Amino acid sequence: MSCKAMSTCLLGLPLLFTPPLLASERQHGAHVHGRAELNLVLDGRSLLIELNSPAANLLGFEQAPRTPEQRTQLEQTLNTLRDGRRLFAFSPAAACQLEQVELESPLLADADEPHHKGHDHAQADHAEAGHADIIARYAYSCSQPQRLELRLFAEFPAIELLHSQLVINGRQQQLELSAEQTGIGF
Ligand SMILES: [Zn+2]
Repeated sequence: MSCKAMSTCLLGLPLLFTPPLLASERQHGAHVHGRAELNLVLDGRSLLIELNSPAANLLGFEQAPRTPEQRTQLEQTLNTLRDGRRLFAFSPAAACQLEQVELESPLLADADEPHHKGHDHAQADHAEAGHADIIARYAYSCSQPQRLELRLFAEFPAIELLHSQLVINGRQQQLELSAEQTGIGF
């Protein structure tokens, strides 16, 4: 997949990651703290990864930030998520290039628009329901994909169990990953 045009990636990733990847075990509206989902599609040199986690695992809270400390925490978390190297490690021979990152969350409006501090009530409504997820999508292009080591357990120790659905060159596989089990072979 080419990511030269941003619209290609922004449109392409959700299309690729909707059914059947996400449809099977997802309970809409319900999430369990301590757990998260990873969806991965490798198609030749194109590698797409989607991390879908309760915000609590990544941030420690799930409401729109209300204090300066929470705003800082949210910005730091988003910066960590945008930096694929802090979450995913490839062997040098794989030569994987991160081409696109997309973050999606009801909590995002505040972090991306800090000048809207005066509009806290309207912004907070996005996450007022109580629970909120953060979805991070990554598009890589790899010369020779071999193996992926997840570093995200070190960055986000609150993720205890990562339910992973993989489609590797058309072959489907499920893995339960954790801090003790961090590798995905291709
Ligand atoms: Zn929650």
